[in-house]
Amino acid sequence: MDKPRITIFDTTLRDGEQSPGCSMNVQEKLHLAQQLDRLGVDVIEAGFPIASDGDFEAVQRISATVRRPIIAGLARACTGDVDRAWQALQGAAHPRIHVFLATSDIHLKYKLRITREQCLEQARNAVRHAKSLCADVEFSPEDATRTDVPFLCQVVEAVIAAGATTVNIPDTVGYSMPEEYGQLIRTLCEKVAGIDKVTISTHCHNDLGLAVANSLAGVQQGARQVECTINGIGERAGNASLEEIVMAMRVRPDRYRYETAVASEHLYASSQMLAEITRVPVQPNKAIIGRNAFAHEAGIHQDGMLKNPLTYEIMTPQSVGVPDSRLVLGKHSGRHALALRCEQLGHQFERRELDEIYRRFVVLADRIKKVQDSHLLELIQDVSRGAVSPNDVTGQSKKFPPATAPLPFPRAASASAGINANDSHPAQISTNAGQAQARPGVPAPANWFGGAPVTHADHHTEQEDYLWGV
Ligand SMILES: [Zn+2]
Repeated sequence: MDKPRITIFDTTLRDGEQSPGCSMNVQEKLHLAQQLDRLGVDVIEAGFPIASDGDFEAVQRISATVRRPIIAGLARACTGDVDRAWQALQGAAHPRIHVFLATSDIHLKYKLRITREQCLEQARNAVRHAKSLCADVEFSPEDATRTDVPFLCQVVEAVIAAGATTVNIPDTVGYSMPEEYGQLIRTLCEKVAGIDKVTISTHCHNDLGLAVANSLAGVQQGARQVECTINGIGERAGNASLEEIVMAMRVRPDRYRYETAVASEHLYASSQMLAEITRVPVQPNKAIIGRNAFAHEAGIHQDGMLKNPLTYEIMTPQSVGVPDSRLVLGKHSGRHALALRCEQLGHQFERRELDEIYRRFVVLADRIKKVQDSHLLELIQDVSRGAVSPNDVTGQSKKFPPATAPLPFPRAASASAGINANDSHPAQISTNAGQAQARPGVPAPANWFGGAPVTHADHHTEQEDYLWGV
């Protein structure tokens, strides 16, 4: 199938590294560049050589070491910058000089203090100079999305004529909306002479949380390169997240019929490596690679997941390199999930034993939110020490508070006492403990840890695992 190929331009080491708290030394950059190579990105923007000696050295070392991808060095639109970038890129197997110059009136007037005519001339000259050194030249009109559109077209046309091979359209301040950004790319495709000879690129910032959406909108209107970063790091609110771009295309080929060369099973490791190097943690709910991205706690989700992962997972954890889909055991977990975790810990139980473990688990989960394997093992030990007996006392564990009352009676007793499965649902142990009613002839057991009388979970069917957590 001939899906258009999207070039993934990773700028983690340049735009990403510029963001507060994300600076890296040369060795760390090299290490990450090698991981980006493994990940399969097409272009690595290794730094801004004129910015510092460290940046220069990083570009130089990466150029010499990482041979497959294109290595880009950033330069302002002036001879000194372009020469310095080229110097750093000398050893690269596939060098690219990336020249940028702001084009919006606000930048021209207040930052650069030049006219549009001067801007046009400077862009043209810088690209021409870069082209005299390097066949692969990218040009970025900084703040393109706030640039007067006819003027932007004029600049883009001029740099293409001067030899640019990629034209990048930055939403530098993260101001654009997806339809708007897509429309801008379409306009350039329609109005700029020679645009069909170059690659159009997106570079979107996430100030309104739209960096990925804008990038995808750009691709749909003709962009064939996406600039992005691991974990979405970058100036202010960050850049488009590489992992989200790649997986959006992979999970929804019906909407985005494009392909990238990224080996998605290396996404998680790349994300972890960056977080370790910078010590900037990934937010737990971050799409694709966050700690919770594949964690399911709600009982209905866990039950469905165990029966068929497709019920709640649109992609497998393995496809992005997450070691295992972790089922977090919490108070909304069903007994099916609990049984599986026990099995994974090497303990198989008969129904009655599992009932007992489940009862205690629910009470515990209500108190400590997230039941770790160590807690569960301790609980299992308590139960297997003979605590299933109706007269036994639970909670001998050092970790948990001591039991305050005898265990509930065995299942058969309560069944014969006619306890209704609905009003003895385990959810009530944690949520309605105080209101639970004792049945005539049935002693009211205490809540093991809280002391309040509760009814208990009997007649618990698989169906109830479904209901709980809806
Ligand atoms: Zn940027």
